[in-house]
Amino acid sequence: MLLCPCLVIFLRVALSSFYGSLSAAYNALLDFGPANFFLLYAPRPDFKVTLGYGVWILLQVALYQFLPSKLSTGQLTPAGNLLKYRTNGLLAWIITHVLFLTLSIFGFLDPAILARHWEALLVTANIAGFLLTGLAYAKAHLSPTHEKDRKFSGSIMYDVYMGIELNPRIGKYFDFKLFTNGRPGIVAWTLIDFSFIAYQYQTHGYITKSILVSTILHTIYVVDFFINEDWYLRTIDICHDHFGFYLAWGSLVWLPAVYTLQTQYLARNPILWSNFQAAAILITGIGGYILFRSVNHQKDLVRRTKGICNLWGAPAKVLRVKYQTNDGLEHDSLLLFSGWWGLARHVNYLGDLILSYSMCATCGFTHLLPWTYAIFMTILLIHRCWRDEERCSKKYGKGWEEYCKRVRWVIVPGIY
Ligand code: NDP
Repeated sequence: MLLCPCLVIFLRVALSSFYGSLSAAYNALLDFGPANFFLLYAPRPDFKVTLGYGVWILLQVALYQFLPSKLSTGQLTPAGNLLKYRTNGLLAWIITHVLFLTLSIFGFLDPAILARHWEALLVTANIAGFLLTGLAYAKAHLSPTHEKDRKFSGSIMYDVYMGIELNPRIGKYFDFKLFTNGRPGIVAWTLIDFSFIAYQYQTHGYITKSILVSTILHTIYVVDFFINEDWYLRTIDICHDHFGFYLAWGSLVWLPAVYTLQTQYLARNPILWSNFQAAAILITGIGGYILFRSVNHQKDLVRRTKGICNLWGAPAKVLRVKYQTNDGLEHDSLLLFSGWWGLARHVNYLGDLILSYSMCATCGFTHLLPWTYAIFMTILLIHRCWRDEERCSKKYGKGWEEYCKRVRWVIVPGIY
């Protein structure tokens, strides 16, 4: 937990003070020693930036809470709770971006404001990430939302890290997990990109195809997330992960800092692609996205229709399985094994990886730093497979074994 902020700061220092070279930054770290290195290069807080960050969070809370919203239903929790969620993310994303654009066009806001204050923003976001982690831990003990959906590991550190409460809430609908991941995390993603595009324009006098392709791919992913916010309620983040440092700090710091590294890099180090090269990266990325969306859609459809639907022109093939919730009640579920889901058990991760590598390819092959996102996604998704398979195996027992026999591959059919 202490290493993560250092890593984020190190990446930024490498980008701003060492021309994006990780090895140069690392050599300086060795030369100066870690304490002197961070004293010399680490960003400093700025009161006005902290104030601006506070306004940003309040704006997102207000949009989440007060914009009109449909109520979507999550999945049954281990304690047997079925929760409703306010899913108005698309409207919040549109309003935030239109506001940013309008204020920029009419001269009330420098569109490069986030890029120019990025260092101080990182400091504030880190403080916010740790405060939220502490709040989540204290709330889980003092005022839990659903007592029986808490998970204690026996280790205080692990509880702080992975969280105790499954669905911490304030009031009936303010859900910490959906809010933190979606709004200060994912809404910020494209806003930061746009700000770094403005920064590139202001410092170099032009906007490159590479930064545009990278931003287009990010925007597709982000807008898709909000159009399908309902689907997100049936993913591991919402259904199974508890709310601690991993999700709180991850959404407030890691996501905005690392997922935008490509545009941060390109704003300072423009890369000029030919039309053909830019189109090739864009098309590969869109291909990855189509795979990602199509696979996720199939699972969502099958779960919503309880297996009564067609995939690729044939009735979906599902394995009917059973599991028990903590209250001892038995429930039915199903595991799809046709369509994409007949090829590999996590083929949705493959689409995501193709998209991630395409996003990073916009930055060329001279530096490793802008590839951090793709490397991170590879580790995250492989680790997710292991975590998820262990959990599903405990949950469904023999049913899961039977499913694995029918669908042999994990992510890449024929290879892994
Ligand atoms: P999934 O959406 O694949 O959800 C996994 C869960 O689905 C399992 O725990 C199980 O839950 C259920 N399930 C597993 N196999 C089947 C099956 N054959 N049929 C029906 N249900 C099944 O995974 P994630 O939540 O990890 O990811 C969702 C998407 O989000 C992925 O495309 C991933 O790439 C992306 N993602 C992106 C991240 C980013 O930071 N950019 C981070 C994480 C994910 P149950 O208990 O309900 O059976």
